Amino acid sequence: MEKIYDVIIIGAGPAGMTAAIYASRANLSVLMLEKKFYGGQMQSTGEIENYTGYEEISGPELSEKMFQHSKKFGTEFAFGHITDIKEIDGLKVLTANSKEYVAKTVIIATGTEAKSLGIPGEDKFSSKGVSYCAVCDGAFFRNRKVVVIGGGDSAVEEALYLSNLVEKVIIVHRRDELRAQKILQDRAFAKENIEFVWESVPVEIKGDMKVNAVSVRNLNTNEITDVEADGVFIYIGMNPQTSDFQNLGILDENGYVIADEHLETKLPGVFVAGDVRQKEIRQVVTAASDGAIAAQSAYKYIELS
Ligand SMILES: Cc1cc2nc3c(=O)[nH]c(=O)nc-3n(C[C@H](O)[C@H](O)[C@H](O)COP(=O)(O)OP(=O)(O)OC[C@H]3O[C@@H](n4cnc5c(N)ncnc54)[C@H](O)[C@@H]3O)c2cc1C
Repeated sequence: MEKIYDVIIIGAGPAGMTAAIYASRANLSVLMLEKKFYGGQMQSTGEIENYTGYEEISGPELSEKMFQHSKKFGTEFAFGHITDIKEIDGLKVLTANSKEYVAKTVIIATGTEAKSLGIPGEDKFSSKGVSYCAVCDGAFFRNRKVVVIGGGDSAVEEALYLSNLVEKVIIVHRRDELRAQKILQDRAFAKENIEFVWESVPVEIKGDMKVNAVSVRNLNTNEITDVEADGVFIYIGMNPQTSDFQNLGILDENGYVIADEHLETKLPGVFVAGDVRQKEIRQVVTAASDGAIAAQSAYKYIELS
């Protein structure tokens, strides 16, 4: 018979790791399962300077600190990709790589993942110049030219990070102004080695063995030009990681998990935290906050049942 945990947390990003701290400090037995690497999106973030208490900290460093903290009060951690959640005799039975885990409550904290462009060359040159992670791959492009696609916070933040490594960053954005926070925009405009290609979208990533150019189409003139580059970093938005939970009936039309203010879904004992939840602001601090709320709600659910 498998061990019955009080709480199983799916995903070890800031939401899952904070839920782990709160649940284990409340003396619940907790298992946190992660399919890739703990830290979640923070592992692919250069500098974080808006998480309270840290004026500036690298994403990987904050991941490590949170992970060590999450285990301090007894949370167990294991790697595993949860592909199914079933309700059997009032318990949640989770499946990961043909192994089963059993719990009284579940917290879904599976976050989001980067959207792809879906243009020719993107798959072909994946890891040969196409990247979704400046922290992971930026160093390969030292003193070279890279294109960043996008104009939101992530695109501009990561363009700034890359600008300290590479010779030149060219931001290609579909609008005539950035969407990123003003402080990031000001920094980007002040950088001599960041250039902009406005009102343009990428249509093809070209190369031979590796990327050597990105073809972009101007949305006003329809003219297509090649922007020479050794690498292309794509930041055009995120998708919720919920494809494994589609049969549960808890997702909105965009695939985000719907929950009440206690972060409980319509399935009793199934809670949600972080970017995967239907909400407005997706940041480390809001993910952590969700983790605390979901864990406390799981605690109350167990107390009352
Ligand atoms: C490039 C970039 C820069 C950013 N910069 C900042 C910033 O400066 N400041 C800020 O506050 N925020 C920033 N963010 C946003 C921030 O990283 C996210 O809001 C935060 O990480 C969300 O945390 P989370 O725990 O909800 O999800 P995630 O961090 O996405 O973690 C979810 C985890 O769940 C795992 N998982 C998914 N599905 C399963 C499954 N079925 N089974 C097991 N495990 C699973 C994933 O592998 C992942 O590790 C940035 C994001 C990006 C991409």
